[in-house]
Amino acid sequence: MIAPTVAQALHEARTQGVDRLDAQLLLAAALGQPRSWLLAHDDALLLAPQRERFAAHCERRARGEPLAYLLGEKEFHGLTLQVGPDVLVPRPDTETLVDWALELLRDGPARPEVLDLGTGSGAIALAIAHAHPAARICATDISAAALAVARANGERLGIEVEWLRADWWAQLAGRRFDLVVSNPPYVAAGDPHLAALGHEPQGALAAGADGLSALGAISARAGAHLCGGGWLLLEHGHDQADAVQAMLAEAGFGAIETRTDLGGRPRCTAGRWIRSR
Ligand code: GLN
Repeated sequence: MIAPTVAQALHEARTQGVDRLDAQLLLAAALGQPRSWLLAHDDALLLAPQRERFAAHCERRARGEPLAYLLGEKEFHGLTLQVGPDVLVPRPDTETLVDWALELLRDGPARPEVLDLGTGSGAIALAIAHAHPAARICATDISAAALAVARANGERLGIEVEWLRADWWAQLAGRRFDLVVSNPPYVAAGDPHLAALGHEPQGALAAGADGLSALGAISARAGAHLCGGGWLLLEHGHDQADAVQAMLAEAGFGAIETRTDLGGRPRCTAGRWIRSR
């Protein structure tokens, strides 16, 4: 086979069903060049190993593998995180939760204790720690493999977080925090949406028949782990805001409020723990 040019390789990827931006990013990675280089060198020839790597990645992308797994990284809240199939790909919608957490921290104690339950790649914990260095952050996950990804991200970025293997509250007896955040699994087990997310860890996505089991487990016990005046901040499905608000009210939270994601859908709900210790 005659070596294809950059332009031909990109054209070929499009005919396989890979979208234009994804194809450019995969080819730039295969060539070890920035994306801008491709635009200025569309008649450059690909070497055989570059062509093979690019073709293999295009085939996997066309089969639905997330781009972030193929590139091995994903930008989140200004940080570059390494990601792989052991962790959910950080979503831009989750930046809503980080921004809200940072707002709450600005009005809170000088050296707040923060907990991120089910941290996955460490995205939320690392973004908060990076933007609010005075915070002391503990981040948990039930998956040892996910926690290894998170820890490696923390080390690479030089951000300190206490990483803890834990099943929601089970390993946190006696500990209290000023702010607890979580993006837990919240997709209903039978949701057809899950099929499109088949390359990502199902344990990070699916949560019982109604998708509310993890949100329920977290809210019900959160009061025992919050300082008086502390906040619980949860990401949830676009149609779960009423249910999450009801759970927080039932658990004794006040000042309950929901905010929308980048697409304008209700995505995060917070409540304040008004009882004192
Ligand atoms: N927002 C994700 C999705 O539906 C789900 C994330 C989660 O369950 N925490 O694509």
